[in-house]
Amino acid sequence: MKRVGLILVGLIVLVVAVALVRTLTLSAPDAGSTAEVAPITIDAEAVANRLGEAIRIKTLSTQFAREEKRAPFVDFRNWAEATYPAFHAAASREIISKYSLFYTWPGSDTSLEPILLMSHMDVVPIAPGTEQDWEEDPFSGKVADGFIWGRGAIDDKSSLIAILEGAEYLASQGYQPRRTVHFFFGHDEEVGGPSGAQKMAPLLQERGIRLHWVADEGGVVADGLVPGVAGPVALVGVAEKGYVTLDLTASAQGGHSSMPPGATAIGRLSTAIDRLENTPFAGGIEGPVADMLDAIAPSVPFGTRFALANRWLTGPVVESSLRSNPTMAAAMATTIAPTMIGAGVKENVLPQSASAKVNFRIHPRDTVESIVAHVTAAIDDENVKVSVFNPGREASAVSSTESEGFQILAQTIQDTFEGAVVAPNLVVGGTDARQFELVSDNVYRFIPIILGPSDTSRFHGTNERVTVENMGQAVQFYVRLIERGSK
Ligand SMILES: [Zn+2]
Repeated sequence: MKRVGLILVGLIVLVVAVALVRTLTLSAPDAGSTAEVAPITIDAEAVANRLGEAIRIKTLSTQFAREEKRAPFVDFRNWAEATYPAFHAAASREIISKYSLFYTWPGSDTSLEPILLMSHMDVVPIAPGTEQDWEEDPFSGKVADGFIWGRGAIDDKSSLIAILEGAEYLASQGYQPRRTVHFFFGHDEEVGGPSGAQKMAPLLQERGIRLHWVADEGGVVADGLVPGVAGPVALVGVAEKGYVTLDLTASAQGGHSSMPPGATAIGRLSTAIDRLENTPFAGGIEGPVADMLDAIAPSVPFGTRFALANRWLTGPVVESSLRSNPTMAAAMATTIAPTMIGAGVKENVLPQSASAKVNFRIHPRDTVESIVAHVTAAIDDENVKVSVFNPGREASAVSSTESEGFQILAQTIQDTFEGAVVAPNLVVGGTDARQFELVSDNVYRFIPIILGPSDTSRFHGTNERVTVENMGQAVQFYVRLIERGSK
């Protein structure tokens, strides 16, 4: 017994020693020497004023887009042409589905695969009744107190204008890319991109074009948003979740409510939803979540760092703690959200059917088909029918963090935002970027915009704004990104 005890103590000492060594030797990846980065002089105030002009052009996407509402997209196109003449002279423009814009800035070496920078021109409307809550008119594009205000200041006119400004800056200096640079600005991203990105990507495929890498919106520079990390974390989306809504329909005998049968439609449906909510999808720390934890581990306090660096030991504890945070839970697994329910027409009549809609955000490890199977098994009741309400879309592929595109993005982020930790992540919403999987293995989602805890409700919400200083940085970011990406 004594020997066994000694061996046990020895093992524990060994485990602790290994864990400590792993924790203490964890260091942030070499950010490269920022001293060598050539300074780029940008007149941020002038950029801010031009972003304000762009915000004043009401390029709205509404649920049921009507053709006569599209005139602002033509205005924007004309405004961009007049505002960025050097870029428009260097690059050729194609108009896709009447409003989306595709540019080609030809490289000197046509044997190289082109890169693609993306942003969308459309913005979401102001929720009726909230107009008065804005500190500045949402379409004023006002520049005041160091901010540019208005719808699109974050999503996504900030990056749209910063890309155009960056390209203009380089083109006006006579810059000649070696690798061709494409730009795509969609006009219907906020409604899923049916006429924009969904047409553009197949067109590139038809032309036999493969893209070296793609950069679109998705992640941001999160400042104070990642628990435990004091500094900014640049979240670069390497994948995005899919989306599907299922209809659950329970049936039972109808009739008078004075003599209810053993099982009612409403009772069956309630049981089904309860069973489903108590049968979560398999999750776990792997893929983009694991990569993100590895990236932030060197920057968190000792206790957390110990846990993150030794997931071989602490895995279950870390996982259950992450599961209790809705943001992290959404990144780790397919989510289940019952959103609509309906049954019955009169208080004393038993309905013959009761139905509910349940929305799922699909993790890359699941598919629409596997979700239907999971739901059917979880409910385990042949009187509850499971059907797909909308066709949905599968999760995207997961792009590598080892590619040249990711490395260039990471380096450019670190050169522009001093001290930022670059962390891959899984984008839980949808973007136009997913369409371009068709023509590229390396699709990344990041805009060089800093968001703090008070900013997360601003995009698609009230008082959307960006700082003048951030717009200056965003232009510097795209100047470097275009230069490095087209070298
Ligand atoms: Zn957007």
